[in-house]
Amino acid sequence: MTSTSQPVQLQFKAPTRGMPPTHLADLTDEAVTDAVKEAGLPAFRAKQINNQYYGRLEGDPSAMTDLPEALRPTVKDALFPTLMDPIRHVSCDEGQTRKTLWKLHDGTLLESVLMRYPDRSTLCISSQAGCGMACPFCATGQGGLDRNLSTGEIVEQVRAAAKAMRDGEVEGGEGRLSNIVFMGMGEPLANYKRVVSAIKRITSPAPGGFGISARNITVSTVGLAPAIRRLADEGMHMRLAVSLHCPDDELRDTLVPVNNRWSIDEVLDAARYYADASGRRVSIEYALIRDINDHPWRADLLGKKLRGALGNQVHVNLIPLNPTPGSKWDASPKPVQDEFVRRVIAQGVACTVRDTRGEEIAAACGQLAAEEN
Ligand code: SF4
Repeated sequence: MTSTSQPVQLQFKAPTRGMPPTHLADLTDEAVTDAVKEAGLPAFRAKQINNQYYGRLEGDPSAMTDLPEALRPTVKDALFPTLMDPIRHVSCDEGQTRKTLWKLHDGTLLESVLMRYPDRSTLCISSQAGCGMACPFCATGQGGLDRNLSTGEIVEQVRAAAKAMRDGEVEGGEGRLSNIVFMGMGEPLANYKRVVSAIKRITSPAPGGFGISARNITVSTVGLAPAIRRLADEGMHMRLAVSLHCPDDELRDTLVPVNNRWSIDEVLDAARYYADASGRRVSIEYALIRDINDHPWRADLLGKKLRGALGNQVHVNLIPLNPTPGSKWDASPKPVQDEFVRRVIAQGVACTVRDTRGEEIAAACGQLAAEEN
């Protein structure tokens, strides 16, 4: 692969048009109380409404049976604008993976994927509509950045999935949503403030949040080094995943164009800072692409670099590429993948191949929305 002559345009700033009206999930506990009072209701209703939303996972005030019927339209107007409607659900893996395509209030399409495993249920959510990071192998990256998602739009994806699990809508009976990964559409750290407030809502105990442990949340980034450090300073202990995809700057400049802004060494320094601050191993995501980044020497270099930068505070997740329709990018053959794993491990770095759930329903980020468009 050679570098492109045209510099790739990265979009760090999203347009502000199209942001939705304020929803309960955008607000802190105090702000919910203020909004309730402003709507002419007594302050104690705030806790009741929060409890309905976060505790009982009810997003529709008309079904909040402990609120007097006459008050429900006021609550709806004040705190529950419709943020998103499901357009369709697509299931695979014998019904244990379910992908939902949402239409947002301004017509923007968004997707989230719920995956049930024997020991956990994981929701992969989107943090932006589209993405401005322009990775050439990614369907979302090709469409550019449409806009940031609001905190409410991020939290609503979680509430809907937690409700689907509780109500047994995913094959395997009733269950509990336990894990969240920010690996859907978008670069979460480019929508920093809203993502961090969403994580606060997701992790706070009821009635002000879903009470999902921060340890069960993964924030995945292409490597916005200053934002990684800032996230470390929040002291929230989520898992950090860095989509490295390549151990040398020359190739990464093209494969992950944000590398032109922050080099591999800068990203790994920031990842080290995060690992030290959080006490958690950093995941390095590496999409293995046939004849592009799957060479034995790259496996050796990757292992060496990571060992030097992060010691034993790192784990490599190899992702067999899920090719987008019509794309020239393809997954590496199995023997090449096996050799890559062997070489990384030989450098003293933990390395496993990620389960590629949802492959048959286009689960690489952005693919379902790309098809719909
Ligand atoms: S791979 Fe991730 S960061 Fe890169 S363009 Fe796609 S969504 Fe954005």
